[in-house]
Amino acid sequence: IGEKVVMQQQEQAEVAGRSVDIRARERQGSTLLEDASAQFRAAAAHLGLDPGLQQVLETPEREMSVALPIEMDDGRIAVFQGYRVQHSRLRGPAKGGIRYHPSVDLDEVRGLAALMTWKCSLLDLPYGGGKGGVNCDPSLLSASELARLTRAYATAMLPIIGSRIDVPAPDVNTDEQVMAWFLDAVEAQTGVFDPAVVTGKPLAIGGIPGRGEATGRGVALITMEMLRRRGIALKDARIAVQGFGKVGGHTVRILADAGCRIVAISDISGGLYNPNGLDIPRIVAHTRNHPRGLLEGYPGEDAEPIGAAELLTVDCDVVIPAALEGQITVANAGDIRAPIIVEAANGPTTGEADRILQDRGITVVPDILANAGGVVVSYFEWIQGLQGTKWTLEEVRARLDRMMLDAFEAVLQRAEAEDVSLRLAAYLIAVGRVAETAALRRTAGA
Ligand code: NAD
Repeated sequence: IGEKVVMQQQEQAEVAGRSVDIRARERQGSTLLEDASAQFRAAAAHLGLDPGLQQVLETPEREMSVALPIEMDDGRIAVFQGYRVQHSRLRGPAKGGIRYHPSVDLDEVRGLAALMTWKCSLLDLPYGGGKGGVNCDPSLLSASELARLTRAYATAMLPIIGSRIDVPAPDVNTDEQVMAWFLDAVEAQTGVFDPAVVTGKPLAIGGIPGRGEATGRGVALITMEMLRRRGIALKDARIAVQGFGKVGGHTVRILADAGCRIVAISDISGGLYNPNGLDIPRIVAHTRNHPRGLLEGYPGEDAEPIGAAELLTVDCDVVIPAALEGQITVANAGDIRAPIIVEAANGPTTGEADRILQDRGITVVPDILANAGGVVVSYFEWIQGLQGTKWTLEEVRARLDRMMLDAFEAVLQRAEAEDVSLRLAAYLIAVGRVAETAALRRTAGA
């Protein structure tokens, strides 16, 4: 049986390797974890943090790595590797998504968990940061295999998750259904009704209206505010978005509804380009009819094909990377023509690329600010679950918009006051808050 399992793992890895064209491991230059650490260190140095405290804030609090043996539909056993990292719980329970992707490994999860700590702190949410993932290619798994994998993952994570300990949510390739399976597996084990143990749930089992659109809504809001401050009218704005999933899809829809011209979009199957603006309602209708929700096969008469990499360098006002990390690298940072980049994905810009963009005078709105809308509405959903109350869509949107714009204003002011990039300004606020909490808890000393 052992040999069979190893063979199946190899098969899974081989197939997975062929099915995804951008993989974090193949990126140019530094890794997400290295970049996240470098950003933290830059902020810590600027703030003059004590070296001991710096070490406390940089080191993940708790990490769990599990093997998940799953019975496949044909009766074979396959073993998947799952992870959860709680980077910090100084300011509250760890909070962060679960990713299903063939490039997931412990270092990637560590980097993403750290970003969550800083994001939650920047938005002043009562959370620390965490992240989880399973190394798998969900496009190769049936719904019942995915359900079994999710249940096995939730059960394995039981000792370290909980509504006051660590609260997962969706991320790349996980959705409401995955959250529903996760919740059900937890409650089946504990026997306790506890909807706040996970966010991003379907409405029928304790979800909140507006969670699905929340990250995209926040990205769109920040993009529009940035355009307003630059004096670019929405109807004149030309925008390119890489990734057309949960985040990219809503971002595009909201910006198009507001009158912006979406000149390029892409997903794993390819991209579409029209310098005069794409017909977004028609494209959305196409993806709804595609079995995997992809752009693939979109009729070409009003759009030219464009590659995912090429999309980042088209002539436009704003580029929004909303797919995976490591997309803007030393290899293409010099070619980017947009004066504004709004980071919807986590870690889409490598550290080296970030310096090039800064030297070129390109404004980068950092991930921990731009894509925080999802965790903000997850926070509302968590409150709803803890209190047994219900929020309306209007309440969710109004409070989300306020919190996003307030955080943006705080970052802009800090950047101006200290003459630093928006990224460093965001980290100064975020790291400063966690450091203060740590000092009050006397983590660094007694
Ligand atoms: P998703 O799985 O719903 O969508 C990912 C999208 O990226 C899909 O359209 C996929 O086809 C596309 N993609 C993958 N490879 C691509 C390639 N080579 N070229 C172009 N597109 C490609 O995931 P998501 O939830 O939308 O997450 C996207 C990013 O946003 C991730 O970095 C995630 O960590 C981050 N994020 C997500 C949330 C959330 O609430 N879901 C919140 C904050 C940040």
